Amino acid sequence: MLDVLAAFRRPGRWYRGNVHCHSTASDGRLSITDRFAAYRDAGYDFLVLTDHRKVSDVSACSDGDFLAISGSEIHPPNPYGGDRYHIVAINIHERIPDEEMHPNEAIAAILSQGGEAVICHPYWCGHTFQDLAPLRGYLAVEVYNDTCMGIGRGYSESHWDELLDHVGPCWGMATDDAHGTEHDCFHAWVMVHAPELSLAAILESLRQGHFYSTQGPAFEHMEMRTTEVPDADDGVRVVPALAIRTSPVQAICFMGHRWRGKRVLASEGSALVEAEYPILNGEKYVRVEIVDERGRKAWSQPVFLNAESL
Ligand SMILES: [Zn+2]
Ligand SMILES: [Zn+2]
Repeated sequence: MLDVLAAFRRPGRWYRGNVHCHSTASDGRLSITDRFAAYRDAGYDFLVLTDHRKVSDVSACSDGDFLAISGSEIHPPNPYGGDRYHIVAINIHERIPDEEMHPNEAIAAILSQGGEAVICHPYWCGHTFQDLAPLRGYLAVEVYNDTCMGIGRGYSESHWDELLDHVGPCWGMATDDAHGTEHDCFHAWVMVHAPELSLAAILESLRQGHFYSTQGPAFEHMEMRTTEVPDADDGVRVVPALAIRTSPVQAICFMGHRWRGKRVLASEGSALVEAEYPILNGEKYVRVEIVDERGRKAWSQPVFLNAESL
């Protein structure tokens, strides 16, 4: 059973990282060394370098409190009607010859190197469920990609929901996909809860969903508990509920599969820092989106509530 809430109750700390960026080794504007230095100086704990179809040795860019992770962005052709895929490979060390590969063969090649695959910016790609549903073996989809806001197509929330509703569990990642030096840097990242800052620990936490994605707001606590709701006979009944605590935000939206969910808004001139969602409609999962006063969002991972949904 996937237990994303374990991140909020076990020992460890939160590490800030970006899993998608480019250097002059492909179409980015900074050298590899400068790209890592920029993120380290901005307070990040780790960065994955993902140049298009290139894999670089980044080991010299790690130090005691900053982790440089090698990776790539690969582009296998799309046999399902749409344009080529953009797939980030986290932690690969050999180039993957993707030019003629089936996308699932390319994802398998990432996994065979000990890496993990992220389906990138489906909205920007113009990808639909038809392009995404046949894919297998990936860890996450980019729920938000900052550089894609250059054409206004950074948010892929409904693509993620369609995969959760009709295919199965996968995580949502927010990334910069930094190519430049300002407009697409330090705007979207993951907060990963891990026992230590090591490649093995960060990868394992990503695999377990022990992270959230954000443009700024924070999930400070999430847990399942019980709560009382009115029943039909003017009494109360006790039901399970997802309870969360956040940094000050204007909106908290609980989203279950298909039509299930609830949005809570702050009243004029105030802010929300907590909310609760009773589980009343057989929700297979609930994920949470929060929005702060500047319109910046954060996305929790889906909390799976029903083993049959796995
Ligand atoms: Zn891309
Ligand atoms: Zn990219």
